[in-house]
Amino acid sequence: MSIALVFGAGGFIGGHLVDSLKEDGLRVIGADIKEPEFASSNADDFILGDLGNPQFMSSLLKGFANSDVVEIYQLAADMGGAGYIFTGLNDANVMTNSVRINLNLLSALVELGYPSGPGLDIFYSSSACIYPEHIQENPDEIDLREEYAYPANPDSEYGWEKLFSERLMGAYRRNFGFRTHVARYHNVYGPRGTFSGGKEKAPAAICRKVASAIDGGKIEIWGDGHQTRSFLYVSDCVEATKALTRSTVFDPLNIGSEEMVTINQLANIAIELSGKRLSVEHVEGPQGVRGRNSNNSRVLNELGWSPKVGLRAGMGQTYEWISSKVDVSKNSI
Ligand code: NAD
Repeated sequence: MSIALVFGAGGFIGGHLVDSLKEDGLRVIGADIKEPEFASSNADDFILGDLGNPQFMSSLLKGFANSDVVEIYQLAADMGGAGYIFTGLNDANVMTNSVRINLNLLSALVELGYPSGPGLDIFYSSSACIYPEHIQENPDEIDLREEYAYPANPDSEYGWEKLFSERLMGAYRRNFGFRTHVARYHNVYGPRGTFSGGKEKAPAAICRKVASAIDGGKIEIWGDGHQTRSFLYVSDCVEATKALTRSTVFDPLNIGSEEMVTINQLANIAIELSGKRLSVEHVEGPQGVRGRNSNNSRVLNELGWSPKVGLRAGMGQTYEWISSKVDVSKNSI
C-alpha cells in the first residue's frame, strides 16, 4: 500500500491533511514533537519525537526506506501568529528549530538512498512571509506574485528561514534529483487551529475574543485595524497542497485566497456571526506588514486550483468551533 509521511501531523494543517490523505486511501504515517491538541490523529501510525534531532529523523526514515513511500509532506516548523513571530523574542528558536528539520529531512533522504525522480514527491510549506517588506507598505495595493520574492527583504526571521528552506528544497532538487514542491501559504484558518496561548493567528484570535466577550462588551484589535490580509480556509489549503505535490510544478506557488479584507472587516464578520453587540478597541500590538493579498494567477494556471470556501462561510465554521471551546464566563480578550 502506498505510504504518505506527514511531518507536523500534530499541528493544525497537518491534522487536516492526514484526514484527507486517509480518504485518498493512502497509509498515513504522522510525526510530530507533540500529540494533536484538539483531536486524536487519524494517522495509521503517529510517531512522537523531535524532527530537529538528526538521529530521530534518520531512524524514522530508515524504518520506511524499503517501503512504498510516495509522498512526504514537511509541515513541521516552529511558528505562530504575529504575537509569536513579530516580537523578536523567538527569532533564534524559530530559525534554528525550523531549519534543522528541513536540513535533517533532505540529508537523511540522500544518506538512506531514498529514490529521487518520479515515485517520491516531497512537499514543503513555505509562507507569504517570505515576500519583501517594502512592497507591502500600502494596505490597498499589494497582491503578491511569486516573482516579487526577489530582491529579498522579508520582515521577520520566520520569513528569512522559510526563504532559505525554499532554496534548500530547490538545491536538493537540482543536485540530487528530488521532486521537491514548495507552497507559499497565505494565512490559513479553520477549526482545530490554535486559538489561545500566544501562537494563534488573527482569525482564531478574533473568534476567541468575540466568543469570550459578553454581549454589549468590547474586543481588542492590535493596531488601527486597517491593515489588510487574505485568509484561506483549511480544506482549500489541503486540496491545493495535494494537487501541488502530485504535479510537476517545482517552483514555489502561492496557495492563498484573493479575498482581501481589513482586520476590522474580519472582526466585524466574527461579531456578526456571534449575534452580539460588541465594540472594537484598537490597542498597541505586533501587526506585521501593512497590506498583503495573494495573487493566484500562477496556481490557477499551473494547477487549475482556486479556493472554494469564501471568508464568511469559513469564518462561520471557525467561529462555531472556537465558541464551542471558549468559556464565556472568563471574558478573555
Ligand atoms: P502548527 O504550529 O499547527 O503545526 C506545526 C507543527 O510542527 C506543530 O504541531 C509542531 O509541534 C510541529 N513541530 C515543530 N517543531 C517540531 C520538531 N522539532 N519536531 C517535530 N514536530 C515539530 O502550524 P500550521 O498552521 O499547521 O502550519 C503548518 C506549516 O505551514 C508550517 O510549516 C507553517 O510555517 C506553514 N504555514 C502556515 C500558515 C498558516 O497560516 N497556518 C501560513 C504560512 C505557512
